[in-house]
Amino acid sequence: MATLTLEGVRKSFGSLDVLKGIDVALEDGGFLVLLGPSGCGKSTLLGIIAGLEEATGGDIRIGARRVNEVHPKDRNIAMVFQSYALYPTMSVERNIGFGLEMRGVPASERTAAVKRAAELLQVDHLLDRKPAQLSGGQRQRIAMGRAIVREPELFLFDEPLSNLDAKLRVEMRTEIKRLHERLGSTIVYVTHDQVEAMTLGTKVAVMRGGTIQQLAAPREIYDRPVNMFVASFIGSPA
Ligand code: ADP
Ligand code: MG
Repeated sequence: MATLTLEGVRKSFGSLDVLKGIDVALEDGGFLVLLGPSGCGKSTLLGIIAGLEEATGGDIRIGARRVNEVHPKDRNIAMVFQSYALYPTMSVERNIGFGLEMRGVPASERTAAVKRAAELLQVDHLLDRKPAQLSGGQRQRIAMGRAIVREPELFLFDEPLSNLDAKLRVEMRTEIKRLHERLGSTIVYVTHDQVEAMTLGTKVAVMRGGTIQQLAAPREIYDRPVNMFVASFIGSPA
C-alpha cells in the first residue's frame, strides 16, 4: 500500500488541454473518488496514474517513487474497468490467477492466493466455471479478484459498476466498501455517480473541464460546496 501524490499534473492532446494542473495528496489506505461529468478528464487522469499515459507536465508519485521512473512490470498497480475482459476459454480460477501465472508464481502458491481472493469476493464456488456461465455481477467480481490477487499497492477503478443494473450496483458498491475496509488498500475510483462517490470516498475530488473544483471529505463537500457547480453537481442544498 502507498500514498499517492499528484502535483501540477497536466495533459494535452495536441491543442486540447484535458488536464490543467491537478494536485492531490492521498494518504496510505485512503479512498479517493474522482467525480465529474463525462469528458472532464477522469479516465485520462487515471491512465496517467497507472502509467498507461504520459503526463504533459507535473509530478506523480506513488509512495516515494515517481511513476514514470518505474518500469511498467515493476509497478504494483491494479486497474478495474467497466468492461472486464475475462479470458473466455479459461476457468474462473485461471482467470483470477493469470497475472500470478505470468509472473512465474508457483502453482501451489497461486492456488492458495486465488482461493483467498475468491473467498473474499464470495465467488469460491465458481472457480471451475467459464466466464460465459457467469452473470454480469459475478464477472465483475472475478475481474476484481484478478486485481486483488496481485496485492497491489494501489487500486484504480474506472466506472466499474456502470454496466450493471441498479440492484447489482448497490450490492457491488457495498462489496467494494467492504473490500477497502478489509484490505486497507489505497484506492482511486472514477465515477460520474454522486451517490457512489459520497458513499465510497474518504475523499472526493469534484472535477470539471480538467480541473479539480473541490477536494474534501464527502460530508464537507455536501455541507460546504465551494461554488455553484459543485453544489448543483452533487445536489447539495446550497
Ligand atoms: P472522462 O473519463 O471524464 O469522461 P476522458 O478523460 O475520457 O474524460 O476525456 C477527457 C477529454 O479528453 C475528452 O474531451 C476526450 O475527448 C479527450 N481525450 C481523451 N483521450 C484522448 C486521446 N487519446 N486523444 C485525444 N483526445 C482525447
Ligand atoms: Mg471515463
